[in-house]
Formats: sequence, structure tokens, C-alpha cells
Amino acid sequence: MLKADRAWRARMQTLVQLVYPPRCLSCGGLVETDFGLCTGCWKETPFIAGLACDLCGVPLPGQSDGVEHCDDCMTVQRPWVQGRAALVYKDRARRMVLALKHGDRQDIAKPAARWMARQTRAMLRENMVAVPVPLHLHRMLARRYNQSALLAEHLAEALDIDWCADALHRHEATPSLDGKGRNERFETLQGTIRASEWRTRMIEGRPVLLVDDVMTSGATLAACAEACLAAGATEVCVSVLARVAKDA
Ligand SMILES: [Zn+2]
Ligand SMILES: [Zn+2]
Repeated sequence: MLKADRAWRARMQTLVQLVYPPRCLSCGGLVETDFGLCTGCWKETPFIAGLACDLCGVPLPGQSDGVEHCDDCMTVQRPWVQGRAALVYKDRARRMVLALKHGDRQDIAKPAARWMARQTRAMLRENMVAVPVPLHLHRMLARRYNQSALLAEHLAEALDIDWCADALHRHEATPSLDGKGRNERFETLQGTIRASEWRTRMIEGRPVLLVDDVMTSGATLAACAEACLAAGATEVCVSVLARVAKDA
């Protein structure tokens, strides 16, 4: 989006806030800032702070000055170089992610992207482009919007980088991954995601920031990262709103 459009949109948002004061994303109570949550809900939302896996963002115990990886990322080959998550996928965070995905709560995307931006800033590369994990067309039509594209748009805005909504696409409908084991997830997704031919110039020769709402096994993100690298991306980083943690 052009900077002039962003400025116009910001002015419109100020106007809207004068008429409709901001409400807590989680409980609907009035909030004083537009950071999204009231104090009570903020405390009950599992934001990730402190030591985290450098590849998937899952919180790790203890402290460290070096780069640390979780057990999953030491076992599974990740085709990206760094990753961050804003939230642990549980409690209020899980409810917000589900509301954004299935509940038509598109208003969650902007504040959520700001939470992601706080974690993602450290991974920024020169000339980076934000790319969302694609939905298959059928699912897109049923749901009317791609929550990852909304997050990518607002994240790119917060970080002041380019973004491209349709850089990747799914060339066949993939069955739902819910309830599938890790290996099954990776097998199901292999080769189903490709860079759109008419968009490869957005990716070629550039670092890509892959954006998704939730990371579970990482199979979808791996398929997307491989598609970006095949289209000539120099490297891929991953930013997700919420990371599923095994013992969370
Ligand atoms: Zn609240
Ligand atoms: Zn990890």
C-alpha cells in the first residue's frame, strides 16, 4: 500500500475512534489505548517474553545470551533461518486466534500484528517482503478473507516493509490438518504450495517474512518457505501470531 493511502487510512481511523471508542478485543470492555486489551485480559493473555526458540518462537526455560533452539526445531529440518511468535496458543490467545480465523473478527488483526511486530523487528532484513500463508481458493470463498493476509498487511505496515498478499498459492485443496500427526502433516503438504508465477518478481532476490496466525507442527510454513526459496527468495524468516507449545 502506498504511504499516502496509509496516511489517509490513519486519519480515518482517528475519526472512527472518536465515534466508537476502542474496546477490549477479548472481553469487549472499554480500553484507553488502542493496543487492544484491557488490563485484566492483558494479564491473562500468554504473551511470549524472555528466552524463546530462535526458529519457532516457543518460550524456553532459563536464560541465555546465545541462540537457542527447542527440541522440535532440533529434530525437524526448518527451511527458514529465524522465527518469532507473539503468543502461546492457549487460553485467551487461543480464543482470539479462533475469533480472527472463524468468527469474522477482522478487527483483531491490526492490534495482533502490532504484538507480532514487537517480536519480529529483530529479524528484519534489508528489502524484506511480508508474504502470508495462502488459503485455498475454496476456503477463501467460504471464509471471505485470509486471516494470515490481514496479519501480513498490518505487520508490514507496522514494520514499514512491502507485503504481497498473493505471492503464494495452493494449487490443490489440501485436506484439513486437524488431528493429523506430525509426519502426516508434512507429507500432506509437500509440494501443494507454490509461488504465483505472476508474483515471483516480488520474491526473487529478496528476503521473505512468512506470516501466519498459528504454528503447530510447522508443516505449512515449511511448504511455504520451500516455495519462496524455489522462487528465488534469498532467505526466509517466519512470524506467527501464536505458537502451539506442547506442554502449555
Ligand atoms: Zn478485556
Ligand atoms: Zn523451535
